[in-house]
Amino acid sequence: MVAANTPVRTFVPRDLDASNFEQLEPLYRSLVDRQVHSGPELERWLADLSELSAVVDEFGSRKYIDKSCHTDDKTIEAAYMNFVENVEPKIKPIFFQLQKKFLQSPFRNQLMGHRFTMLGKKWGVDVDLFRDENVPIETQITKTVTEYDKIAGEMMVNFQGKDYTLQQMQKFIERPDRPLRQEAWELVARRRLADRERVEDLFEQLLPMREKVAKNAGLSDYRAYVWKAYKRFDYTPEDCLKFADTIARVCVPLMKELDAERKRDLGVEKLRPWDLTVDPKNRPPLQPFADSEVEQLIDKTKAIFDRLSPELAADFETLRRNRNLDLQSRKGKQPGGYQMSLEESKTPFIFMNAAGLQRDVEVLLHEGGHAFHHIAACACEPLVFLRSAPMEFCEVASMSMELLGMDHFDLFYSQKADSARAKRQMLEGIIKFFPWMATIDSFQHWLYTHPNHTREERKQQWLSLLKRFGRDVDYSGHEATKESNWQAQLHLFHAPFYYIEYGIAQLGALQLWQKSRQDGRRALSDYREALKLGGTRPLPELFSTAGIRFDFSEQTLRPLMEAIRRELAELPR
Ligand SMILES: [Zn+2]
Repeated sequence: MVAANTPVRTFVPRDLDASNFEQLEPLYRSLVDRQVHSGPELERWLADLSELSAVVDEFGSRKYIDKSCHTDDKTIEAAYMNFVENVEPKIKPIFFQLQKKFLQSPFRNQLMGHRFTMLGKKWGVDVDLFRDENVPIETQITKTVTEYDKIAGEMMVNFQGKDYTLQQMQKFIERPDRPLRQEAWELVARRRLADRERVEDLFEQLLPMREKVAKNAGLSDYRAYVWKAYKRFDYTPEDCLKFADTIARVCVPLMKELDAERKRDLGVEKLRPWDLTVDPKNRPPLQPFADSEVEQLIDKTKAIFDRLSPELAADFETLRRNRNLDLQSRKGKQPGGYQMSLEESKTPFIFMNAAGLQRDVEVLLHEGGHAFHHIAACACEPLVFLRSAPMEFCEVASMSMELLGMDHFDLFYSQKADSARAKRQMLEGIIKFFPWMATIDSFQHWLYTHPNHTREERKQQWLSLLKRFGRDVDYSGHEATKESNWQAQLHLFHAPFYYIEYGIAQLGALQLWQKSRQDGRRALSDYREALKLGGTRPLPELFSTAGIRFDFSEQTLRPLMEAIRRELAELPR
């Protein structure tokens, strides 16, 4: 008996076991061999391929979710690795044949609409880049990254007689008691340093593999490869470097002003690394909800969405109903937070490590935005290949929710001063984020255009970027941590070059926030319209549908930074 909410399948057998490639292969083969005689037949063929892809994709996503919730369970890890090693790599070459079959079909021009033009453009790049010999390298890359996740997931410290994850330690680093937060910070720093060389070794395995992938595809370096692979059709590496220059001019001085203010408020001569996240007025950390009460986090976040738009709140409720939330931080859980789109059941899953911090509220608003995007795109776009927007816009969907949610922090705090403080933290965080983004992005431009660099050169490059974009912090006695703190940035391992997207998107989200100040309803309805387009339109059009500009020049950045500054000036301190 099939449950009421089980997705309908017309092509893939209900009892198919997606962990077994021998069961999948005949289905893929039948699509390779199928004779297609007309436009409608080609559309049917695409729909069948989409159904099969959604089933396999969701299977893989669920294995990934399992693994990130239980990094210490060998059986779960084996099931994920089986998918990564024995299923995915075998699908890739057949999928490539299928993409080619579509691109070469004489009936393609009978398929009408922007969607199919977009599909042709996206798949054209995939076919262009695909090399059989890259499949095993990509598998090896995934395995190496999993190694990194394991190292990071196992990092625990014992503080005041109890074991904590490094995420859980953050709350002690925010304590007003300076010696205590120093002790907590140093404990975390030492724990990271214990694995510094292991992580460095893994990174040095990744770099040449990525270089090889690019060379195999006939490209000069991995950056050029990423530009095509990420389908960055609408901006260039030079645009990103220019963006970094603008940030150095506009945001770095603002950030330094904020740090000078912090130093004054804290009454310290120099900012030390453990002084950066504590409240500058030495108030205890904000506690939006009790650290073991994720239900409160869920209820109140839902109430925020409800104030923005009841439709968003209803979407959010489906996540809870489907048990698609795993929010509590605990041992054996991978760090960080993410939203995973389950393509067959058309539901999103949210993973995070909530520990009772204001940051958790922002993460859940953020991942909620991704979830809304997925739900809206699934409702409008049947083909799984066209549902995901480019990352630069996906992050507009999520970051906008943080900014629009900000005016409703009163739901978490009974005191006006507390919600103002949370808001100030967030806005200051945005100013400080841009220089950090520029650091990570510029670092990667350098890493992948200097393929044979040494460990020492890498360190020097990192330090020179910190000098250009970094905060005024005294690391004396902790130089080793300063030199290696890029290691904690998951993106460098998981998704190289995937970071500028946050900067581009933040500009979009800030524009939407400004728009909502003039007309909140309009801003939200434009937002939803743009989400519905999924990945069927180019980036500039997704932005314009949301009523914002796709631009990261000074002309856009400066007025937005000034808006933040005005807002900060109005908030009580
Ligand atoms: Zn995101």
